[in-house]
Amino acid sequence: MAKLISGKELAARVKQEVAQEVQALRQKQITVRLAVIIVGENPASMTYVAGKARDCEACGIESDVIRLPEQTTEAELLERVRACNEDPSVNGLLVQLPLPKHICEKNVIDAIAPEKDVDGFTPVNVGKMVIGESCFLPCTPAGCLEMLRSTGLSMAGKNAVVVGRSNIVGKPMALLLCAQNATVTLCHSRTQDLAEICRRADILVVAVGRERFITGDMVKPGAVVIDVGINRGADGKLHGDVDFEAASEKAAFITPVPGGVGLMTRAMLMRNTLEAAKRQRGQAE
Ligand code: NDP
Repeated sequence: MAKLISGKELAARVKQEVAQEVQALRQKQITVRLAVIIVGENPASMTYVAGKARDCEACGIESDVIRLPEQTTEAELLERVRACNEDPSVNGLLVQLPLPKHICEKNVIDAIAPEKDVDGFTPVNVGKMVIGESCFLPCTPAGCLEMLRSTGLSMAGKNAVVVGRSNIVGKPMALLLCAQNATVTLCHSRTQDLAEICRRADILVVAVGRERFITGDMVKPGAVVIDVGINRGADGKLHGDVDFEAASEKAAFITPVPGGVGLMTRAMLMRNTLEAAKRQRGQAE
């Protein structure tokens, strides 16, 4: 039976470390602040933003949730982003996605100051990640990497397979695994013989968005399986992209859903926000 990589435990540890550092900064009269802009009332987005505000509170990070109406124009949103960029009291800034259809997400992300881009989505941070420079890593793949590290197994030379090539999960995950010296295969909807490729994976990261997409027979015995997927099942519960029960019979380590990658994603945002404050402080001194 696979050992569980608990997002709950790991995220609690990361948040505790962040909270300690935030507390130490506060004793030097330095506050850490995250601004979150949300446009409209998408229920899932509202839940995510509320979760981020709660995480900030738990870590001692100040949070500003800027709620804008659905009919906000792109120009108005860009103006808000610029104001946060220029506000020295704001260390980290993120715009909750998706945005209403009349707003171009690319224009908005491009407008975020790279030094405050704690989601790691701006082209500057993505470019730095590609060439291995210090940058803000996108929170979900960074969280997956922490989970892989927690197993204590080396990634060097291992066959790593990432299923899904989105800009926020799959592609950066493949890059991060490559930087760990894994031999990486990045799969997507046009991949042929997916099951066969997955069966060769020592490390299998799945970010597709389809419930129980990875079946037990696609998992190599002894593999480490990281399930990024979050799907609301017909039973009303959350399920991953991996058939957890069947995969657990084969894998050495596996992440649960819920209680896995999602919690680590949130914890990594807190770590990035602290890091942003420290870097900005360093530059100011
Ligand atoms: P996207 O929809 O942006 O990307 C899905 C990827 O899966 C695409 O690259 C697509 O390929 C690929 N795909 C679709 N069908 C197949 C198939 N039959 N075979 C192989 N690949 C396929 O999703 P995201 O990356 O944003 O999210 C993926 C999942 O992770 C979702 O469930 C989402 O909710 C969850 N998620 C969880 C987070 C967390 O914190 N735990 C954070 C972000 C996402 P192609 O490019 O060819 O279309």
